[in-house]
Amino acid sequence: MRILNLSLNGFRNYESFQCEFDPGVNLIVGQNAQGKTNLLEAICYLSRGAAFRTRRESELIRFGADFAELCATVSSYGREQQLRAVMFAGRRPRQLFLSGVKKNSRGDLDGVLNTVLFCPEDLLVLKKGAAERRKLLDDALCQLRPRYAAALEEYRRLLAQKAAILRERAERPEMLELLPDYNERMAQTGAIIVTTRAKYLRQLELRAAAHHAAFSGGSETLTLAYQTVSTVEDPTAPVSEVYQRLKEHQQSHWRAELDSLQCLSGPHRDDFEAALNGLPMKAFASQGQTRTAAISLKLAERDLFEADTGELPVLLLDDVLSELDSGRQDFVLNRIRNGQVFISCCEQDKVTDIGKTIRIENGSLLS
Ligand code: ATP
Ligand code: MG
Repeated sequence: MRILNLSLNGFRNYESFQCEFDPGVNLIVGQNAQGKTNLLEAICYLSRGAAFRTRRESELIRFGADFAELCATVSSYGREQQLRAVMFAGRRPRQLFLSGVKKNSRGDLDGVLNTVLFCPEDLLVLKKGAAERRKLLDDALCQLRPRYAAALEEYRRLLAQKAAILRERAERPEMLELLPDYNERMAQTGAIIVTTRAKYLRQLELRAAAHHAAFSGGSETLTLAYQTVSTVEDPTAPVSEVYQRLKEHQQSHWRAELDSLQCLSGPHRDDFEAALNGLPMKAFASQGQTRTAAISLKLAERDLFEADTGELPVLLLDDVLSELDSGRQDFVLNRIRNGQVFISCCEQDKVTDIGKTIRIENGSLLS
């Protein structure tokens, strides 16, 4: 999958912009606030039909302009197609087109241009709380496995209802009779969630560890371990087995849930631990190591997406070079050899040997 060219009119700080891209690495260089991230945002918008930095479409339209237009030629599954999006100031809804044909929803563009984005906030995945790590797994799996998305949705609904029943225990004690039923269904959907996440994480670990080893010059071994409730010894065991273990955990926490009025049992608290050479990253990883692992995870996500869909998504790396030593910078610039990659950076002297350098100043291309 790759983007052959892009044109922007009135998007963010771009008045009128046109560029052809390299099938390999595209290094976007410029000083702060010149439009590097905006360019990646435009590509992302055409890929997903939504922006990654804002929900407000009006922010994407250049100040003072009536509309913004984004247009790209994309090559995927052996054919070339045009993606076009037009956003209007005011209330008129945005329009999406695929090779000139108007499309009603962004779902109609699915699979034309897939992107994997790394932005500085992705570093939080390894540093912050478990919710960020669950989100990483859930986002990927919801795209790849419709059955997983359905299980997750049902689990979340059951969890919210169970939480309400526990919370209102004093006012509506008769509702407690429903809990066994909720627990049963939460163990069923929970077992699908645990096993699907754990198996995906194992695949992710396999690939991320290989990328991380190459990235760090072979000095660091990355491991990822799924963590769920204590009774589940092997989260990759068959669903029926994990279901039984989840039931056991529910039973042993039944009293505690009634006392604390909280849902204490189930995969809604699951996590995974990332470690380097056996040391948990959250506590011990340096900034460069955290960045290296976060990028390796993205590369692995991209590999798994390719294994599932047959096409390698376009990789968008925003501001990744800072904090990396020269060997690791060289990995990013010259050694991601499969598929198309966009890398933004402020370091004016950086070049790539396997692609092209695009210099941006104040929303314009410097030739
Ligand atoms: P950095 O190196 O600091 O990350 P960058 O090159 O990635 O910088 P961008 O985030 O792409 O910078 O661009 C930021 C600039 O775009 C800001 O100066 C901002 O004011 C401008 N900008 C954002 N939205 C609009 C808009 N709707 N109209 C005009 N300019 C805008
Ligand atoms: Mg930026």
